[in-house]
Amino acid sequence: MSTITRDALKTALLYGLLSIFWLVVCDYLLPLLIADSGQLAHAQLMSGYVWLALSALAIYLARSQLLAFMGVKANARRDQDMQHLRLAAAVFDSTLEGVLVTDANGVIVHVNRAFMEITGYQQDEVLGMRPSKFKSGRHGPDFYERMYKTILSAGQWSGEIWNRRKNGEIYPQWQSIRSIKDDKGAITHFAAVFSDISSIKRSERELAHLAHYDALTGLPNRLLFSDRAEQAQTHARRNKQTLALLVIDLDHFQHINDSLGHAVGDQVLKAVTERLTALLENGVTLARLGGDEFAVLIENPQQAMQAAELAQGLLDGLREPFVLDNQSLFLTASIGISLFPNDALSAEQLLRNADAALFHAKSQGRESYALYTEQLTAHAQRRVELTGELRRAIAQNELRVFYQPIHNLLTRRIEGVEALVRWQHPQRGMVSPGEFIPVAEQSGLIADLDNWVLTQACRQMCQWLNEGVQLSFVAVNVSSRLFSRGDLDHRVARVLAETGLAPGYLELEVTESAVMDDPEQAIEQMHRLRELGLKLSIDDFGTGYSSLLRLKRMPVQKLKIDQGFVAGLPEDEDDIAIVTAIIALAQAMGMRVLAEGIEQADQAHFLLQKQCELGQGYWFARPMPAEQIDWQHAPVFAPV
Ligand code: C2E
Ligand code: MG
Ligand code: MG
Repeated sequence: MSTITRDALKTALLYGLLSIFWLVVCDYLLPLLIADSGQLAHAQLMSGYVWLALSALAIYLARSQLLAFMGVKANARRDQDMQHLRLAAAVFDSTLEGVLVTDANGVIVHVNRAFMEITGYQQDEVLGMRPSKFKSGRHGPDFYERMYKTILSAGQWSGEIWNRRKNGEIYPQWQSIRSIKDDKGAITHFAAVFSDISSIKRSERELAHLAHYDALTGLPNRLLFSDRAEQAQTHARRNKQTLALLVIDLDHFQHINDSLGHAVGDQVLKAVTERLTALLENGVTLARLGGDEFAVLIENPQQAMQAAELAQGLLDGLREPFVLDNQSLFLTASIGISLFPNDALSAEQLLRNADAALFHAKSQGRESYALYTEQLTAHAQRRVELTGELRRAIAQNELRVFYQPIHNLLTRRIEGVEALVRWQHPQRGMVSPGEFIPVAEQSGLIADLDNWVLTQACRQMCQWLNEGVQLSFVAVNVSSRLFSRGDLDHRVARVLAETGLAPGYLELEVTESAVMDDPEQAIEQMHRLRELGLKLSIDDFGTGYSSLLRLKRMPVQKLKIDQGFVAGLPEDEDDIAIVTAIIALAQAMGMRVLAEGIEQADQAHFLLQKQCELGQGYWFARPMPAEQIDWQHAPVFAPV
């Protein structure tokens, strides 16, 4: 109990005792002492005054003590408030969190020291401004709208927000904003407390990196790779695409670790990573699954062959020695390949199958690749081999051009020839273009190949013309792959210039499907080729799906009826109908018409009757070397 309270109680007690004493004096002692009633009444009146005076004095004393008591109390509260304010100011200033206070209109009225440290702004630069000054531009208007709504409805908001420091740097904050209300519930201020969480974010990123990337090589680890394979598989399934997963394992890597130590082993793994990265195209995921095992994920490879070719490329690339500390190390690897959707329907299965294929590759004697299915392995290997051999064949002049005569059915004389490429393989003999043209197309060798055939054919034609052979054209096939490239006309012009053949003697054969791949581009290309002065024909006509409207727009001079329709002549009703229709169509469009694959006299006869102008086929002559052509050959096919 305080002294003041004690004093006030004492005064009250004194006043109580005084009252009792006065009652005793007035009501008992005075009547005993004064018998005279007149004097008694006078004495009682006098004592009444005295009582009044004493009471007033007591009340005055009590009141002044009470006031003193209350005054001290008020002072004490003021002192306490002051102390609280000092405390709050100290906390406000020493806290590591930035504090910003605005008035009800959102105008900044207060910031603390941490605010200045975090944002880089001084107090006088921001007072009177609005917090929108710090916007980073990372959040849209919706974000701020939601934030204000929450503050107004719930009285507070907290969350992550990106703001801009004075130096322009954008950084993340964790911010809590509260509205402050007066006694009547009206908002007077808003207080925002925030901390700079960029370092937390950085650590989070670092942690995520550690969890998903291999520390030694910096490559994605198994966890991230599986995740990516999963996503790629979902994407591939949705878009009806393919996936190839390669697991690469270094052969006998343990020997390096055992003989040269783990430090060298680590260096080798890093060097292998660099080598593999350089060998792979962008957009292909390379990961280290652990130890000496790497994995590659290829999205939408065109064929199994592309994956096999890539595997072969990686094996070849790894075969180059690794130079570490002036020491050459030779490494080989084995690769297992699994394909989606052929081999597996889930990413996990894809990885398992690639592992199985890897095991297979290792058991085959290492330094090789294997596909999950053996049949595919053999097929892909054959194609990869063929690509390598074809490359060599072009360089070493193993290719030949054969010519097949084209007869005028009416005169029966040879009017032109078609150049057909042949491959004189040293071991396998003559390889058919049906086998190696697709390989050349997939490997990109087709451009060189076609260019070579075109050059040979033009040269040969010049020679025949010089020798006085009556020939009106040499036809050369052009791959559909080259049609989608814009520079075909330049290439052809160059060959014509080099060989000196007059363009009117050259005819280029384009398949219907080449035109259908990208009709507009193809038609444009055809016009450019026509401007060179050469002729164009559509090969294998009837097997594609070109619309008549499009055919009309093509600057083409000849249709070659596909041999598939000629084969059934002259009996097959459907073939008769189709061939008759094509001949009529060509005539209506002002084109010449040629039938391929004539093997019998009655086919030739039938075609002549239907007014087909030109014919080509074994019955007339097979494709043969230039010097073997008998220019006088004019077989009789009309029934005798
Ligand atoms: P194509 O242009 O339709 O050539 C006609 C094919 O039919 C040739 O096959 C020819 O030997 C064959 N042939 C000719 N007469 C008969 C016959 O009476 N009966 C049968 N069954 N077949 C006959 P080849 O030489 O094997 O060529 C196949 C295809 O390869 C060609 O079809 C052509 O599309 C392509 N090709 C050939 N040489 C080249 C070339 O230099 N470049 C390009 N890009 N493709 C070529
Ligand atoms: Mg042809
Ligand atoms: Mg053909």
